Amino acid sequence: MRIDVFSIFPDMVGAFAAQALLGKAQERGLLDLRVHDLRSETTDVHRTVDDSPFGGGAGMVLMPEPIFAIVEKVQPPRPLFLLGPGGRRLDQGLARELAAGEGFSLLCGRYEGVDARVADELCDGEMSIGDYVLGGGEVAAMVVLEAVGRLVPGAMGNNTSADDESFSDGLLEYPQYTRPAEFRGWEVPSVLRSGDHGRVARWRQAQSLARTIERRPDLIAARGGLTDAERKLLSELVENGPNV
Ligand code: SAH
Repeated sequence: MRIDVFSIFPDMVGAFAAQALLGKAQERGLLDLRVHDLRSETTDVHRTVDDSPFGGGAGMVLMPEPIFAIVEKVQPPRPLFLLGPGGRRLDQGLARELAAGEGFSLLCGRYEGVDARVADELCDGEMSIGDYVLGGGEVAAMVVLEAVGRLVPGAMGNNTSADDESFSDGLLEYPQYTRPAEFRGWEVPSVLRSGDHGRVARWRQAQSLARTIERRPDLIAARGGLTDAERKLLSELVENGPNV
């Protein structure tokens, strides 16, 4: 999988992606990540990429020429997404979709944003990481890289670890515990130490359901409520039973 990122702060993104899971995925040849400097095709001595907005107003806007020039030179993998608060919201489903493809590209804005002709005529879509405004697209690009990178086949080493985590089946993950079995008087649920894999699996499923009902009822609604089997499991294994 190849991912290209365009930014006026390429080192920020490059340094982040060289570490941990993304760094290992690149070393192992699973991920071909290329970060490009938006200033690299500028022609003036100051390497200018921004100018004041037509119509007036505060701040600066990234100009179209340097962006078109570098993107046309590099010919990055498509789709090319402009990062911005008005785009399609990143979620686990979109991360999975992107990880299943052969590659994509991200364009990081800065200042007040990017000349609209870049979004309209050069990019294939816009992507947001949430309903808040960042100072630039770099952190958003890192979020996308990490969410997608860990789903690239082989990147996590243990291929099953993506299957039973939060959002994989529309639910939050069950609580996890490790040693010691008792810490400051707080005990790990005994079922997890029972060695009975069937009981452990049912307990985890019930905990996932109960947590999601409590914390994110919108996720339960999005998957069409609970099945009869799930209601039964909850009433058997979780105090107070299903409350939906
Ligand atoms: N004036 C713009 C915000 C510009 S913020 C507006 O009101 O919509 C500067 C840059 O940060 C944007 O061009 C975008 O690339 C990035 N950015 C800001 N918030 C973001 C978000 N929620 N998701 C993805 N990128 C974001």
